[in-house]
Amino acid sequence: MNIRVLGAHNCESQDFKLASLLIDDTLALDAGGLTSSLSLSAQGRLRAILLTHQHYDHIRDVPTLAMSLFLQGASIDIYSSLAVYQTVAAHLFDGRLYPNFMEHPPENPTLRFTTIEPYHTEQIEGYSILAVAVNHPIPTLGYQVTAPDGKAVFYTGDTGPGLAHCWEYVSPQLIITEVTAPDSYQAFGRESGHLTPSLLKQELIGFAKVKGYLPRVAAVHINPYLEKEIKAEIAVVAEELNADITLAYEGMQIRL
Ligand SMILES: [Zn+2]
Ligand SMILES: [Zn+2]
Repeated sequence: MNIRVLGAHNCESQDFKLASLLIDDTLALDAGGLTSSLSLSAQGRLRAILLTHQHYDHIRDVPTLAMSLFLQGASIDIYSSLAVYQTVAAHLFDGRLYPNFMEHPPENPTLRFTTIEPYHTEQIEGYSILAVAVNHPIPTLGYQVTAPDGKAVFYTGDTGPGLAHCWEYVSPQLIITEVTAPDSYQAFGRESGHLTPSLLKQELIGFAKVKGYLPRVAAVHINPYLEKEIKAEIAVVAEELNADITLAYEGMQIRL
């Protein structure tokens, strides 16, 4: 499994892109930085997108990708919770902001939505996909993606502390999680459902207790204005836990 980090930040600029991961060129996790990061032909190779939740930085490129695929005569499967589907259908594809690519073109709509239930393994494009609920102010699903060779990555999406129940369901070699802010923002993190380095540390200690090992960890959803502090604090946590924890960046590739 080859994982490419397309967007590792919570702000966009010429250097930073919004939340998006790409697995083996075909499966995307979140759509904050798909069209802004991928060539037109790479967009055409996408087969499916898993959406964690409906916050704008995670769905932003669904309409622009839809236009690109429509013009190529292509279509794509999108998987999400019912809540995300309903919100996207009502607000992005009601025909007011943009063409309704969920129904257009009528013979083969560009976007095919399928709702996904947490805690049931689904086969999607040759991968085993397991969704688990995480802690964020709106319903959010993390996804474990397992390749046919058994290698697995768990992407939390946006989450605050409280992942303990997830560890009963997932056994990844790699966790890609969010670390939005440094520890001086811990109260903000608890309130708004985001992690800081110390909050991540507690979650990882919980993981090791249940699973008996610590996987490699890559942090995304980084606030670029606070990145230096986050990076320094993550380095301390990595040393304390004797674990491989790094900040992800746009274009980073991880091979499992
Ligand atoms: Zn969010
Ligand atoms: Zn977000």
